[in-house]
Amino acid sequence: MRIDLHAHSNVSDGTEAPAGVIASAASAGLDVVALTDHDSTDGWNEAAAAAGRHGVVFVPGMEISCRTEQGISVHLLSYLHDPDHPGLLEEITKSKDARLTRAERMVTLLSEDYPLTWDDVIHHVAPGATVGRPHIADALVAAGVVSDRSEAFATILTSHSRYFVQHYAPDPALAVGLVRAAGGVPVFAHPVASSRGRIVGEKTYREMIDAGLMGLEIEHRDNPEEGRLFLRKLAAEHDLLVTGSSDYHGAGKPNLLGENLTSPDALARIEELATGSRVVR
Ligand code: AMP
Ligand code: ZN
Ligand code: FE
Ligand code: FE
Repeated sequence: MRIDLHAHSNVSDGTEAPAGVIASAASAGLDVVALTDHDSTDGWNEAAAAAGRHGVVFVPGMEISCRTEQGISVHLLSYLHDPDHPGLLEEITKSKDARLTRAERMVTLLSEDYPLTWDDVIHHVAPGATVGRPHIADALVAAGVVSDRSEAFATILTSHSRYFVQHYAPDPALAVGLVRAAGGVPVFAHPVASSRGRIVGEKTYREMIDAGLMGLEIEHRDNPEEGRLFLRKLAAEHDLLVTGSSDYHGAGKPNLLGENLTSPDALARIEELATGSRVVR
């Protein structure tokens, strides 16, 4: 069984439509794939319909942007929650709206130094999609400023850049609690991905575990090996489930579907623990 539990479509910052992600999962020889768009479940229906056609099992998911009080970015994966839970919906709507304002601010700053307008960015955003820095990167590529998204993230779009602007995002422990309230299974995404920015310390892990965290995404290309050792100990200590995933973004990132996998046991546990929605077989 080849199971990949982290992939993005153009409902957020992936480059393929949800049905395209499912088709790509089939081509990559996956048996199971989760769609985990940023702060949105808008791709679930299309992915569910495509799953049957391609003989792929579909796990509905989402990746929630969070930020600690120290200003550290945390990504929380949620599997099989109720997409209509009011409390969770309110938080992701706040983040999604704030992402739009934030992207506009970044473009205003960037336009002082680069040939870039808001229209150029919107051109790369599917209708209703969650806007992120990758869409700004696409406009910078089209303008010939950088050659691809990775170069944009390595240079002008890093979190250290003078063009970087933060957006509203819930505290990770609050998000964990909301995912649980919505019947979902919360899994801390790429927890030790230090290349993306600062990573959280013991206090945040404790707060997230106390709030009901159920798993850690350990096998992910952005987690360095020494961090994975720490995470494996933490998982054993607190009986957290362990996942491995690609974080596929279509052509927008080098990450390939199936480059990391989740065990059938971990998926079975996710299914047993969830009460908000169902795996599509
Ligand atoms: P944002 O959510 O707007 O802060 O942008 C972060 C998103 O950009 C994350 O979903 C990452 O997966 C994506 N990202 C980060 N680094 C890169 C990269 N080098 N190339 C493409 N996408 C990236
Ligand atoms: Zn992304
Ligand atoms: Fe992430
Ligand atoms: Fe992701």
